[in-house]
Order: sequence, then C-alpha cells, then structure tokens
Amino acid sequence: MAKVSKSLEIPICKECSKLFDENEFYHISAGDYVPICKDCCESLVLSSAGELDINKLNDLLKRVNMAFYYDLWKELNILGKPYFGNYIKLLVEHKYSKRKYKDSDTIDNNKELEQTSSLLEKWGVSNVEDADFLEKEYHEWETSYEIDSKAMVDSVKQLCLIELDIRKARKKNDVQALDKLLRIKSQILGDANLKPVQETGNAANEQVSIGMLIKKFEQEEPIPEDTAPDWIDEMKVWIVGQLARMEGLQSDVTDDFNKELAKYGIDVDKELDEKLGDM
Ligand SMILES: [Zn+2]
Repeated sequence: MAKVSKSLEIPICKECSKLFDENEFYHISAGDYVPICKDCCESLVLSSAGELDINKLNDLLKRVNMAFYYDLWKELNILGKPYFGNYIKLLVEHKYSKRKYKDSDTIDNNKELEQTSSLLEKWGVSNVEDADFLEKEYHEWETSYEIDSKAMVDSVKQLCLIELDIRKARKKNDVQALDKLLRIKSQILGDANLKPVQETGNAANEQVSIGMLIKKFEQEEPIPEDTAPDWIDEMKVWIVGQLARMEGLQSDVTDDFNKELAKYGIDVDKELDEKLGDM
C-alpha cells in the first residue's frame, strides 16, 4: 500500500476510515497530509451548537501533532469557515506548519490564552463572543440588584445563559424555542425574587445597590419641580387686594392684602396698650 503522507501510514481517514484522496485531505507540506479527512476535521472543531470550539480545535491539533497558537485562533475567528482549513493556511503563512503540538501556546506561557480559557470555563461556553455577552449581562444585573448569596449568583448566571439562548433563538427565528426559553426565564425570575415589579419593594427595604439608587433617583426625581413662582401670588394680593379694597369688596384676597399691609403699618391701639402696660 502506497505511503501517501508521513502522518498517514494507512491511507484512510483516522476518524471515518474514508479512503485517501488528495482533494479530501488537508495538505500541510510536500507529501504531508493531515491524517483525518477534511469533513471530519471541520466537524471535530465544532461545539454542539455548531460554533468554533477553542478546546476542540486544541484537541484535534494535539491528535494530529500540530501547534496551537492563540494569535492564529484569534485570526481564525475573523476568517470563519472552513475553520480547520483556514487554520492550516494560517500555520503555513506564518511558517509554523512544521511546528509540533509541544510548541503550542498554553495557559502557562500565554497570558491572553489563560484569561480566555478561564472566562470560557467560568461560563461553560466555547465562544469568546458569547462569554463577553454573558459577562456584560451579569454586570448589568449586578449593578441593578443586590446579588449577595450563592443562590442569587447562580440564579443570575442562569438568567444570563437563558438570555444568550433567547438571543440565539431570536436570530434563528425559532419561535418554539423562544417561547420555551421565555417561560424558563420568567420562572427563574420568580424563584430568584428578582422580578422587575419587585424593584420598588426591594428599594423600600433600602437594601439597594448604587445602580438601583441611581435608577430610583432618575425615576422619582427627588428634587421637586418648580411650581408657579411666588411673585404671581404676591402681585395678586397687592393689586387685586388694593382694587377690591377700593371697591369696598370683601374676600380672601382682601384679607390677605390687609395682613400684608399690616406688616408695614403701626397698630396704634396695640402700641398704646403695650406702652401703658410697661408703665
Ligand atoms: Zn473522515
């Protein structure tokens, strides 16, 4: 049997046993092919949701003894499908095609990879875009509600993950899934005591975060709005009061006018009584 590739002792795909055909296997360098067929390679790097999975890409590279580089993985996310085909192209372009798996970036020698890995692990997702969305979502909850117990943290995490699924179902226009997810979301919100209608109740307990306080101030506007200016009342008293007095009319306005006027006059009888009292 002809040896078609250094890594392909037996000319069949190591995954599906498909017979070697140079069009169906990725070419690495002269006489060297990836020992797993193109179709198998492409499906092996995908998550169950059909997205590029960093861990699965790493596993496949380990299996075929090729190097994993974090920067190439970042470029691959932009390039898109076919993922493994494009990854090999990047390896060739960067002259890394001869490198082995032992030369790979790892969480011990690459800070960015370490951060990405821990973020993906935290959320149990394979996609950095998803993880970023979840982080943002969690932060929004965190600034709007007091999340102070393990149970609350778990509930909010679940809500974030459900929100991500809702977003995906909406994109796919999957009405059935969307309906189910919205029900689950509502259930979690109820169980977690986080329903928006309960916001005012929570606020009344004064156990609110800074975010909630800001929201409360924005909604309730603690500084009272300016009512009609005082001078209107004052003019009414002086002008209408004076006219009413001239006409010999009696009303609340003339009472107010007399009261105001009294501030500037002297009550002779009262003054006299006080003087006599002192003597
Ligand atoms: Zn195959």
